[in-house]
Amino acid sequence: MLRWSQTLLNTLREAPQDAEIVSHKLMIRAGMMRKLAGGLYTYLPLGMRALRKIEAIVREEMDRAGAQETLFPILQPAEIWKQTGRWETMGPGMFRVRDRKEAWYVLAPTAEEAFTQLAKSEISSYRQLPRTIYQLQDKFRDEIRPRFGLIRGKEFIMKDAYSFDADDAGADRSYKAMYDAYVRIFARVGLKAKPVEADTGDIGGNFSHEFMVFAASGEDGILDCQACGYAANQERAERKAARVPYQTEAGAAEPVATPGQHACEEVARFLGRPVDQVVKSLVVTIGGKPVMALVPGDREVSLTKLRRIIGGGAVAEADAETVAQVAGPVGSIGPVGVTIPVYADRSLEGAADVVVGANREGFHLTHVSLARDAKIAAYVDLATVRAGDCCPKCGKPLEIRRGTEVGQCFKLGTKYSAAMGANFLDETGQPKPIVMGCYGIGVSRTLQAVVEQSNDADGIIWPAAVSPCQVALLLLDPGDPEVTAKAETLANALEARGIDVFLDDREERPGVKFKDADLIGLPVRVVAGAKGLAKGGFEIRRRTEKESAIVPPEAAADAIAALLK
Ligand SMILES: [Zn+2]
Repeated sequence: MLRWSQTLLNTLREAPQDAEIVSHKLMIRAGMMRKLAGGLYTYLPLGMRALRKIEAIVREEMDRAGAQETLFPILQPAEIWKQTGRWETMGPGMFRVRDRKEAWYVLAPTAEEAFTQLAKSEISSYRQLPRTIYQLQDKFRDEIRPRFGLIRGKEFIMKDAYSFDADDAGADRSYKAMYDAYVRIFARVGLKAKPVEADTGDIGGNFSHEFMVFAASGEDGILDCQACGYAANQERAERKAARVPYQTEAGAAEPVATPGQHACEEVARFLGRPVDQVVKSLVVTIGGKPVMALVPGDREVSLTKLRRIIGGGAVAEADAETVAQVAGPVGSIGPVGVTIPVYADRSLEGAADVVVGANREGFHLTHVSLARDAKIAAYVDLATVRAGDCCPKCGKPLEIRRGTEVGQCFKLGTKYSAAMGANFLDETGQPKPIVMGCYGIGVSRTLQAVVEQSNDADGIIWPAAVSPCQVALLLLDPGDPEVTAKAETLANALEARGIDVFLDDREERPGVKFKDADLIGLPVRVVAGAKGLAKGGFEIRRRTEKESAIVPPEAAADAIAALLK
């Protein structure tokens, strides 16, 4: 039993200025956590209890899926990050520190290198595969703008698991086991999290799912199909492209003056053409090398897709000088006559009467056939997808929703094992790189996501499985020995059943206790007062209900247990 009179807990009427979203406000107001500095939070006793319950569920499901718990250092030597090249590619988001001998270390933002290093030293034979190991550990990211409390912090708690297999088929089985465990974990913590296809980002690898919680404040856009269940991160989402309507050649390409017209919309209006018949050209550098990307004029180029398709390093829009060197003045460029590789969005395949920039200020080319007039390296999926586009699986319109990622599964392949030489000997004695997968859950983020998804105007509504305690027992007359004795008896009976009780035994007015109980949001509220007990018993209700039932003391424990089922 937890007694408020002995607990480090203060509720606040006002949320701090920097709290933008409801879960951040409620976590602070309900005394679950406090800010130490930007992006750094301290868990107070109640928040800590909820966090521990989430961690326990994560551990149970990981163990059930056959994974084994380990614990790696947070402070990791730079050498292993140099072996995979991520010492360079992780950029300023990674905290780097030096020891007194001037040796560099990393405050781990993720742990592929350390886990791969362990596999390299411990696994030598196919007989030791498969293995999946995990840890719950703090991670660090130097966020430019930490915000939303635990959703985007500089330090956070992650569960990260890594699977090691002899081949692709084995890696698929390990992936499936983790994916299924994730579905169970989020269901048990009371979170609606949808698995969506995702980009693999800095982690690399070739296949990934994100578990997203839909929330208006989410930082990711998700294209979601209500008809067939397809869902993908906006960076990754594909669409069934409509058939290009302008496939008939209309004579030779011809320069037209378009003075002062640069944006596709401007050019389309000026020439009296639909905007999707004007081709948007963008010069992008990939690992420093320029390429041109083409999309219909009403679309944007997805740099994420471009990086995934072409590979070869960091992707950025080229500066004006580079654009001028390889094509022409920004705002008037096009694919005709350029010598750098040109990639066109799939929806442009067959485009035969379109407008492109002429690589000359104030001019465009009309009646261009891409196949005839330009040299296209490949037609690939490059354009961003938006609401109303057709689902790539079933063709029905896609919706766009906001979401926050709480978990991610990656199929890594041999990217890390090959880079670090983590090999095993197969049945024939041949050395082969271990096939890997990695699987993360943002544990502290999950805690706040639960609150973001489950609250009302009065406060948090904790799902019973992760609630700091299951019952708020409000002792209205702590000075009355008879009432106190009855409340204590009930609390002990509940604890004996494994139901944890938070006893509000403060010398406070009933109104204050009611408000605080709603704000803190434990699933069942029990009022023990002299008046109520004289009338027949305890007043019992769920956090989500308005009316209480009066239950005689001897029946109260059963009634409460029933409400928690
Ligand atoms: Zn669909």
